[in-house]
Amino acid sequence: MMSFMLKDRVVVVTGGSSGIGLETVRLLLQEGAKVAWCGRDADRLAASVTTIKEAFPGGQFIARRCDVLNADEVGRFAAAVAVELGNTDCLINNAGQGRVSNFANTCDEDWLAETGLKLFGVIRPVRAFIDQLLASNIGSITNVNSLLAKQPEPHMMATSAARAALLNFTHTLAHEYAAKGVRVNSILLGMVESGQWRRRYQERSDQNSSWEEWTAGIASQRGIPMARLGRPEEPARALVFLASPLASYTTGSTLDVSGGFGKQL
Ligand code: NDP
Repeated sequence: MMSFMLKDRVVVVTGGSSGIGLETVRLLLQEGAKVAWCGRDADRLAASVTTIKEAFPGGQFIARRCDVLNADEVGRFAAAVAVELGNTDCLINNAGQGRVSNFANTCDEDWLAETGLKLFGVIRPVRAFIDQLLASNIGSITNVNSLLAKQPEPHMMATSAARAALLNFTHTLAHEYAAKGVRVNSILLGMVESGQWRRRYQERSDQNSSWEEWTAGIASQRGIPMARLGRPEEPARALVFLASPLASYTTGSTLDVSGGFGKQL
């Protein structure tokens, strides 16, 4: 069986308490990696620990409450990972959420919050973990990004602009660290079932529709060629691939995980 070559390696997943991040944690532990993850909400984080402990009783992992926008918290998280699991080999920047808004209803504070989340949500962890990644012989950074970076949507204007900035940043970071042995890549997501879609489902206008009907409706309305939303384990596999030595000659690259929704060549 093909392996991701991550056994006993230390991998950090930001925003690992739900959705894509939690599936990524699960896959990494299956592969024998040592995994650290973080999130802001203590209850959600504790629930993720319970789930993972049940599934991987012998797994080596730590979970810490940490907001990726808070430099002190991220610094403490990085130090804890090094002490408790060992030097970090791979950093997966996944924490975040999208903002549904157009130009008319996005105020200055919203613009600052959205660009701040998308950029500093990656900059702060990279700064905190870069020395550990440089000390690894397989160092990698893998960012969760969105197709919106290349294919903006009017109803997610600020998120689209901020995602484009993150894509640009990711590419430059890859070039800065290529010769130093740290690869930097990202995945471009379409629509993936996860916590944020569950929350939107709770607030749906047609309260009689089931989850399956509601998600199939979105896929058809948006014209997703594969006619369904992605499942969180699908981007998780793409993230683990790019983070792992299987992608050893790939840096500054993107992998599309959108069910064919990407329109550019
Ligand atoms: P979820 O809401 O299921 O998971 C998001 C995770 O990130 C949670 O663990 C959350 O925990 C954590 N998180 C959010 N903000 C912070 C923060 N500031 N600091 C630390 N942790 C944080 O959503 P998804 O799995 O869907 O999202 C994962 C990533 O994928 C996000 O960056 C999202 O923007 C991106 N994405 C998702 C798409 C989709 O269709 N699902 C489409 C395009 C991009 P807590 O809230 O407790 O902090």
